Amino acid sequence: MANEKTLSIIKPNATLDNNIGNIISMFEKNDLRIAAAKLTQLSKEKAEGFYIEHKDRPFFGELVEFMTSGPVVLMVLEGENAVAKNREIMGATNPAEAAEGTIRKLYAKSIGENAVHDSDSAQSAEREVSYFFEKNEIVDRF
Ligand code: ADP
Ligand code: MG
Repeated sequence: MANEKTLSIIKPNATLDNNIGNIISMFEKNDLRIAAAKLTQLSKEKAEGFYIEHKDRPFFGELVEFMTSGPVVLMVLEGENAVAKNREIMGATNPAEAAEGTIRKLYAKSIGENAVHDSDSAQSAEREVSYFFEKNEIVDRF
């Protein structure tokens, strides 16, 4: 199986609820490693650019407003099959549909304020990682 990198974001509802550690521990328990991390608050421009694929969706304004409303933790996660594994650990977009034990089942408030983001494919992972991180900010020692 391939060693991969994927982008993860702990969203403002989860940072404000003090669930950063709980969420990171879910990644670590599932053999994903943190290869880069920063805590920041996104500007409107940065959030809009990140979610550009959703710009025509009705919830775009609400999404950008939420993502800029508080601190986020940006992380590069690394491990075997990291992209698919993170999708599984994270759970469905809507917490009402998320499987038991997933991050969103445990820590999401609603379909919008759903605690975490991850990259949905290897291709988006590449774009999303380089959107937030320079190469020299990513550790490659694992
Ligand atoms: P996912 O994050 O599971 O890949 P999407 O890519 O479809 O989900 O949507 C991106 C983000 O937009 C979601 O994580 C969520 O925060 C927000 N979102 C999606 N659908 C809705 C909706 N119907 N209403 C409000 N926000 C939404
Ligand atoms: Mg998505």
